Amino acid sequence: MGFKALIVEKDAEGKTSASVQNLTDDQLPAGEVTVAVDYSTVNYKDGLCIGPGGGLVRNYPHVPGIDFAGTVEASEDARYKPGDKVVLTGWRVGEAHWGGYSQKARVKADWLVPLPDGLSTRQAMAVGTAGFTAMLAVMALEDHGLRLGNGPVLVTGAAGGVGSVAVALLSALGHEVAAVTGRPETESYLRDLGASQIVPREMINETVKRPLESELWAGCVDAVGGAMLARVLGQMKYGASASAVGLAGGAGLPATVVPFLLRGVNLLGIDSVMQPYENRLRAWDRIARDLPMDKLDAMIQPATLADLPQLGADILKGQVKGRVVVDVN
Ligand code: NDP
Repeated sequence: MGFKALIVEKDAEGKTSASVQNLTDDQLPAGEVTVAVDYSTVNYKDGLCIGPGGGLVRNYPHVPGIDFAGTVEASEDARYKPGDKVVLTGWRVGEAHWGGYSQKARVKADWLVPLPDGLSTRQAMAVGTAGFTAMLAVMALEDHGLRLGNGPVLVTGAAGGVGSVAVALLSALGHEVAAVTGRPETESYLRDLGASQIVPREMINETVKRPLESELWAGCVDAVGGAMLARVLGQMKYGASASAVGLAGGAGLPATVVPFLLRGVNLLGIDSVMQPYENRLRAWDRIARDLPMDKLDAMIQPATLADLPQLGADILKGQVKGRVVVDVN
């Protein structure tokens, strides 16, 4: 039977274009589990894959969508049977493999996790890769000693997907949260999610002038990278950790090693793509338990497959607020 998907094609000049088209089951790639997709989302990487590819897409025509949630339709793997609710993030799905911007997806069983108890497929995708990664970042801070009462935790790129979920999670856990944003109009949104302090982007977005500044932050979830992360490292409290999640502000890190040597600051790398299965379960379990669903609802911007070309361009310009949930049906 036919179904709809967002297809990205590349012409002879190397220019890409995206449109909603009809596909049939026999066009799906190889894989053990076929999933009827309910929802997908828009992450920063999706913006690249809907557009020029950013070096991530291997072959065209391509179906982007780095995450999805839905219901198993057919399975050749004993772990899954028709009717099971599942979630997928990572494993280069939507980049090297066809992804979730489709009413059907076929993937390896190893890439799936069961939908966590207490979450609908829509809520799981409101969380999506961005929120899942925010949870991994918070877990890493906790594993490296972040405790309640240590002081404010900084979240950069706060009004974006990773940032919004990190603010809501940290605040619900009882931390004081300082949110860095370049969009002053998002202040009330961020305060509603639980930020008690708003830090304007320009206050913190300069190249390091002094390797050590006043000790301000007990932890940091950083979605921005670049000069901002470099500056933040010099503002961390003694022994505190920063989780490096993203590069929305740049892939360079114009920092010095002084905060590591004189303050015992830790820089923690966060990767969501190749995360081992057990840690995925741990993160989803924590999300279902610790993320307030009313705050998640406040982050949602609904969309359809036809909206994706515009939303892909918007997220690359840092213009998407919170989490886009794509109803593919
Ligand atoms: P979003 O676009 O939703 O959020 C990024 C936010 O960063 C923006 O909303 C904006 O926040 C801020 N920002 C954008 N441009 C700049 C700039 N030039 N300087 C400073 N701040 C800027 O993206 P996501 O939340 O989906 O992803 C954030 C980052 O995390 C991306 O780089 C993404 O690739 C990465 N990522 C990494 C993962 C991993 O496994 N390590 C998984 C998921 C995402 P504001 O307007 O509030 O300032």
